Amino acid sequence: MNCERELEVWRAVDARHWPEHCDEELRAHVAACADCADVVEVASELSVEHAEAMRDAHVPASGAVWWRAQLRVRQDAVRTARRAMYLIQAAVVVAALGIVAAIGGFAWVPGVLANVQWNVPLIVALTAPLALAPVAVYFAVTED
Ligand SMILES: [Zn+2]
Repeated sequence: MNCERELEVWRAVDARHWPEHCDEELRAHVAACADCADVVEVASELSVEHAEAMRDAHVPASGAVWWRAQLRVRQDAVRTARRAMYLIQAAVVVAALGIVAAIGGFAWVPGVLANVQWNVPLIVALTAPLALAPVAVYFAVTED
């Protein structure tokens, strides 16, 4: 910028105030200032191109935009729920493997499985993932 009024001239052209709605003093300055005359030329050309681009742009109907937004929200929710279910399944598999590993040394020997102490804490430990998984899925899906 070489002239301190270039921004003022640019804004006037951009707001479509040039030249009819500008004061005489600004018009006289542009007539005398080569930099501002260049700004008027470039800004006018860009303004015309901008108007043509806006006219030629194919904006989809608002209903289609809304429908796509709803579809995207639904897909995001499904993706989130699916991710939570994968995590829960992985946790259940890991817990089951841990339990099997804990008692597996005895369970793989034939006849020893009957000797496992089937007390309440062991049964709770075995069934807790199965009971808690649906609850976790429910909270993961109804997050919002
Ligand atoms: Zn100027």
